[in-house]
Amino acid sequence: MTQEYQLRILPEIAANEQKLKEYLSKEKGLNLRDITATRILKRSIDARQRTIFVNLKVRAYIKEMPQEDEYERTIYNNVEGKPQVIVVGAGPGGLFAALRLVELGLRPIVIERGKDVRERKKDLAQISREHTVDPESNYSFGEGGAGAYSDGKLYTRSKKRGNVDKILNVFCQHGASTSILVDAHPHIGTDKLPRVIENMRNTIIECGGEVHFQTRMDALIIENDEVKGIETNTGKTFLGPVILATGHSARDVYRWLAANNVTIEAKGIAVGVRLEHPAMLIDQIQYHNKNGRGKYLPAAEYSFVTQAEGRGVYSFCMCPGGFIVPAASGPEQVVVNGMSPANRGSRWSNSGMVVEIQPEDLGNEELKMRNEELAAQQDEQLMALNPNLKSSQLSEINSQLLSVLHFQEELERQCWLQGGRRQTAPAQRMLDFTRKKLSYDLPESSYSPGLISSPLHFWMPSFISKRLSLGFQQFGRSSHGFLTNEAVMIGVETRTSSPVRIIRDKDTLQHVTVRGLFPCGEGAGYAGGIVSAGVDGERCAEAVANYFNH
Ligand SMILES: Cc1cc2nc3c(=O)[nH]c(=O)nc-3n(C[C@H](O)[C@H](O)[C@H](O)COP(=O)(O)OP(=O)(O)OC[C@H]3O[C@@H](n4cnc5c(N)ncnc54)[C@H](O)[C@@H]3O)c2cc1C
Repeated sequence: MTQEYQLRILPEIAANEQKLKEYLSKEKGLNLRDITATRILKRSIDARQRTIFVNLKVRAYIKEMPQEDEYERTIYNNVEGKPQVIVVGAGPGGLFAALRLVELGLRPIVIERGKDVRERKKDLAQISREHTVDPESNYSFGEGGAGAYSDGKLYTRSKKRGNVDKILNVFCQHGASTSILVDAHPHIGTDKLPRVIENMRNTIIECGGEVHFQTRMDALIIENDEVKGIETNTGKTFLGPVILATGHSARDVYRWLAANNVTIEAKGIAVGVRLEHPAMLIDQIQYHNKNGRGKYLPAAEYSFVTQAEGRGVYSFCMCPGGFIVPAASGPEQVVVNGMSPANRGSRWSNSGMVVEIQPEDLGNEELKMRNEELAAQQDEQLMALNPNLKSSQLSEINSQLLSVLHFQEELERQCWLQGGRRQTAPAQRMLDFTRKKLSYDLPESSYSPGLISSPLHFWMPSFISKRLSLGFQQFGRSSHGFLTNEAVMIGVETRTSSPVRIIRDKDTLQHVTVRGLFPCGEGAGYAGGIVSAGVDGERCAEAVANYFNH
């Protein structure tokens, strides 16, 4: 027999199965010797008051052992000889699309510009050591996509629980801890993700699909408004309908689409900085305890949101017990992001602190930072992709379609200049920033390429810095101790989402003008994280199956 209970208990009881059994015996009248096992079904932490509680939904097995699997298995059949579908990009969008294609009896051919997830790691080390960014292998490009070396947070605002659960179960089937099915805020950790990603790739290959690394899609082959396949930098072409899951950093893909008249539009993003506190300080604040989190609680999280002068200012992608990483995907850029290991055990906690920007804001004087040298490079890149572009088309692309992308590029380049033309990142203590003071020195940080003191309040567009400052002051008022010079802000966080939407039909998920092309995931503007990209990948695979059936 099994019995399920909803409990609100102390962390030390929740962390120990024997203590949990004793608690159930005492509070629920069960005979201790009859409880053969317990299984936690849901877990969340309630840190609103001085005494911290853990909310648990728990199943007690009475005089029987658990029989059922801890996760739902998906069956993957052999797809050799089945119709092939090109999946460009092996991030979560592309990988989940490929696995779903296998489930649906279609043969995925995955094309990935970067290296496999292990080889990629060596290039990441080079960024910190040598300050060189390989434009094909970095924190954004390579197997696993932008999510591979990340915190591996798996929560999403999606209300479609069924789709989200499917993604989490597929992760478990490929080696992720089943705790992700239980925790209110599940995460895998950057140390565990590569194994899971390799297992997903192995499933695709064992079932008869293909995965091609270091193969970059350079052009779509389009005939009579229908995509026939892709051309790659290896000289090989691949034929079939295309799921385009190239992520938000594939700027060459956006340029190709813009230059070749494949409909896209500019979309809003959020930009700002990474803010890093000592993890102990965040634990003390969030758990209301000067001793921090103690033995039984995880590194504390936070989430802030406010409005400042008509724009949202909020914390983004918080990494408790994590690291700030150099996330540039090309030369002359400094971009930061965050990741954490499974145990979230580092001495720091960071999050993006960002301000919303809409395409129409870019007309604002405070946001105008167009750099002539960079603008010329951007024009050259477009002309190389389509030498027949007229100057009116070029100007439409610059002022409309790619305006937000260009703004991102300019801010990242500005940051690179401020950082001394290396991956060293410009930084300022948090309180100094709100007081418009250059920091005399900087605290120790997890950002391994190093920091340089810089007046962010001065050189960042005031549209952003003013709102960030107002936001910080507001967060400091609502959370005592948060606004402090023990925290350092590091520039810049610009890759929060895609600066472009590749417009697709909402029912068929095909591109609005090019049949057989399925824009997918974050890069297309339809996802904002690992899980939502995975969900979108699955939806695109289903849409391709429908396309074959019609
Ligand atoms: C450091 C970091 C930490 C993050 N942490 C989290 C987190 O904890 N939780 C979360 O939900 N999200 C996190 N994110 C965001 C998350 O990673 C993305 O939302 C997600 O990866 C988007 O998935 P995607 O498949 O749409 O695109 P991507 O993951 O960006 O994958 C796109 C893939 O396409 C490949 N590609 C690009 N162009 C081409 C081409 N021309 N030819 C062939 N291949 C190409 C790229 O190499 C890449 O592998 C993080 C991102 C970063 C950078």
